[in-house]
Amino acid sequence: MKPLHCIVCVKPVPDFSAHAVEFDRQTKTVRRENVPTIINPLDKNALEAALRLKESYGGKVTALAMAPPFAEDILREVLAYGADEAVLLSDRVFAGSDTLATSYVLAQGVKKIGAFDLILAGAASADGGTAQVGPQLAEHLGIPHVSFVTSLTRATEDTLELTAKTEEGTVLLELSLPALITVSREINEPRTLALFGIVAAAAKPLRIFGAADLEVDPARAGERGSPTRIAGVFEVSLARKGEILPAAPETAAFLAQKFKEWGVL
Ligand SMILES: Cc1cc2nc3c(=O)[nH]c(=O)nc-3n(C[C@H](O)[C@H](O)[C@H](O)COP(=O)(O)OP(=O)(O)OC[C@H]3O[C@@H](n4cnc5c(N)ncnc54)[C@H](O)[C@@H]3O)c2cc1C
Repeated sequence: MKPLHCIVCVKPVPDFSAHAVEFDRQTKTVRRENVPTIINPLDKNALEAALRLKESYGGKVTALAMAPPFAEDILREVLAYGADEAVLLSDRVFAGSDTLATSYVLAQGVKKIGAFDLILAGAASADGGTAQVGPQLAEHLGIPHVSFVTSLTRATEDTLELTAKTEEGTVLLELSLPALITVSREINEPRTLALFGIVAAAAKPLRIFGAADLEVDPARAGERGSPTRIAGVFEVSLARKGEILPAAPETAAFLAQKFKEWGVL
């Protein structure tokens, strides 16, 4: 079968596993200062799926990110995992993009990269978590897409056989290439970084494109191109209202009464 060119969307996200989430009430955005940036966890699964396709059929893997310049480090890490080349879309014009504007800029990036067979993205990011960017990107490019993919095999030269999670269960699908998939954690176990990969990454191509290189319409990118408005931000308190009852005979009657009030009995 012919080799495949896979493009993997990689979002750099703050590592909230070790740092509490804080909001800037003024700008209504998440405070990212002093929080280390990591590869969005599900994007590692997307990368792993692409690397396995390359190992089976040949071809290449291109990593694609829209982010500020610091994301170069994240893309070098993706190259160390085994991607062949990386493309960073970075420009002040892109700041303040909602998912629609983000996916539009990514689509312009894909057009700049050129011919591809499969785009892979995480099902959702660890910070925004809307799960919109993958499907929106596919719509901008006019290609079919499947979200929440849990397994993947190549059925024919130009089709994949997939299983994907739905609200009702799992569906088995055949997908014609070129196409886009978003992957769930179940799809694979991402590999660990190897020292030779880190060394090899330094010599791999990493290109940076701005709005002018991508022929981005400024009216469709950044704050100007974003129809979403954040009305407010608040922290959800998960603290439970507890009540400690004495170990006394009358507690049973009290509880029975409470259960009736709550509709449990
Ligand atoms: C009004 C508004 C303003 C915003 N301004 C900013 C801002 O200034 N700076 C900022 O960082 N965020 C900003 N955001 C958040 C930004 O819209 C989201 O980070 C972005 O659109 C991705 O959405 P998500 O996290 O829900 O991704 P999801 O749809 O949950 O992500 C799914 C997958 O899509 C891919 N993906 C998503 N984003 C990217 C990306 N950037 N590059 C490559 N692949 C990607 C990844 O594979 C990811 O796993 C803003 C949001 C709003 C609503």
